[in-house]
Amino acid sequence: MKKHLLSALALLVATAALPARAQDAPELTAAQRDAFASCLRRLPQEAAFAPVRAATIQQYLAGVEPDASVLAMLDKQPEFTMHPWDYIAMLVDDERVADARAALTQWGDVLARIEARYGVPAHIVVAVWGVESNFGKNLGARPLVRSLATLACLGRRQSYFRGELAAALRIMQDGHIAPERMTGSWAGAFGQTQFMPGTFLRLAVDFDGDGRRDIVDSVPDALASTARFLQAAKWQSGQPWGYEVRLPAGFDTSGAGRRDKRSIASWRAAGITLPDGSPLPASLPQAGLLLPAQKHGAGPAFLIGRNFDAIYSYNASENYALAIAHLADLAASRSATPGFAAPWPTDDPGLSRHERRQLQTLLLARGHDIGTADGAIGEKTRAAIRAEQQRLGHTPDGRPGQRILRALQNEGEGGR
Ligand code: CA
Repeated sequence: MKKHLLSALALLVATAALPARAQDAPELTAAQRDAFASCLRRLPQEAAFAPVRAATIQQYLAGVEPDASVLAMLDKQPEFTMHPWDYIAMLVDDERVADARAALTQWGDVLARIEARYGVPAHIVVAVWGVESNFGKNLGARPLVRSLATLACLGRRQSYFRGELAAALRIMQDGHIAPERMTGSWAGAFGQTQFMPGTFLRLAVDFDGDGRRDIVDSVPDALASTARFLQAAKWQSGQPWGYEVRLPAGFDTSGAGRRDKRSIASWRAAGITLPDGSPLPASLPQAGLLLPAQKHGAGPAFLIGRNFDAIYSYNASENYALAIAHLADLAASRSATPGFAAPWPTDDPGLSRHERRQLQTLLLARGHDIGTADGAIGEKTRAAIRAEQQRLGHTPDGRPGQRILRALQNEGEGGR
C-alpha cells in the first residue's frame, strides 16, 4: 500500500472527503464485532506474531475494541484531487520555511553528525520532518494498537495490517516507545517520521545512544531514522534532488516522466536550460523531466534525479516529493520565498495554512457553521465556500483559493 494513503500528511490532505470523527462513522454490525473478536483470538497463531510473546499480546490486545471510523477512512475514496499548486502552497508556506530554517539552526550539530553517517544533507532531513509531522507537532492522536487491530481483522488489506500490528506490539515489547505514546494516523503511521511499524523495525535508529529507538520523543532518533530511510532508498550523496528548468518553445512533452531518465547532455541537446537561460549543470548524471501541471497545459518544469526518487519512496506521490524538495531548497537558502520561476497555470493560486485559517475566520464571521478556524479544509468549510462563491457569482467549486479569500476580505473592509 502506498504510504501516502497512510500518513499524517495524507490525513491532513484527505480529511476533506473523510469522516474526521468517530461519531461520523457508521456503527459496526454485530457480525463485524463477532468477526473482530474471533480474529483477535486467532491472531497469536499467525506467523507474523511469532516474535510477539503471549504476555505482550495479552497486555496490549485484550479488551481492544474495533474502531469503526478507521474502517470508514480505509473504504472512503477522496472525492477530488488537489491541484499541485494548492498542495504545494499548503505544504511549503512562509511559516514552514521559517520553521525549517529554525530547525536547521537548533539541530545543526545533530544534523551534521547524521549527514556524516548517512550521507543525507540536513536541509533534506529537516524538510521531510516538516512535511511529515510539522516538525514533531503533528503526530496523530489515535491509539495505534486499536487502529491496527481494526484494520488487521476487518476490511481490505488485513494481511498487510496484521504484519503492522505485530510490528507495533514488538516495538512496545522491546521497550523502544512507551505504550501510551504509540499513537498516530488512522492507518498506523506514527512518530515524528510517520513510519509504519514495519518500517520502524527495519530502519529506525537509536541516534542519541540511550538504547531505545524512539521516533516519538527523541528528535535525534527521528531525524537519523529519516536519513537512514533515505539512505536505504539509495540516496546519492553529493547529488541534488534536481532543479527547475525552462523548456524551449514548442518542446514535445508527451514522453515526459519521472522514470524516463536521460543524460543531461541529451536534455541540453533538446534545448532545455535553467530558468534564467543558463546551461544545465552537470551535477545530475541522469534526470527525468517532471511536469506537475502537465494536464493543465503548462506550469513549472523540473529535471529530477535519483534523490527525488528516494524522497518519493518515503510517500509515493510526486507532488509530495516536490514539496519536500522545494522546502529543502528554501530552507537551505536565505533569501528565496516560496514559489517557482514559472507560474502555475492558474489565475487563482492556492492558500498557505495562515490564509486557510483567515478564510475560515471570514466564513465563521458570516455565520457558517464550520467549527474552528484550524486551517483544515473539511466538508463543512467546502460547503461554506460554495455558498459564498454562489452569492458572489464565482464558480461554486468549494475550492479554497486566493479569489474567494480576497473577495471576502474586500467585503469586510468595505463594511458589508
Ligand atoms: Ca534513542
